[in-house]
Amino acid sequence: MEAFTRQAPKWTEKATHALSFCCPKCGASSHEATKVWLNRFAPVMTEDYQKKWQEFYHCQCEQVWWAWSCDRKELFNDRKAPLDQD
Ligand SMILES: [Zn+2]
Repeated sequence: MEAFTRQAPKWTEKATHALSFCCPKCGASSHEATKVWLNRFAPVMTEDYQKKWQEFYHCQCEQVWWAWSCDRKELFNDRKAPLDQD
């Protein structure tokens, strides 16, 4: 699991900024990404004094994209949420 390493993985270099927190190429959500890396070591202060950081996703369609953490609607671990049972 490389999501929380300090060093940016090589694949993040070609990331495209996605404004709607999904793959700009195929529209897949961040949950469907094959690789994830969160730039938690370089947070930025937002206008309302919240911290945000870049989240990088490597989509299953090979597109690499990133978005600000504050633009993410769901929690990172919401797949384990009680309401998510099948
Ligand atoms: Zn995609």
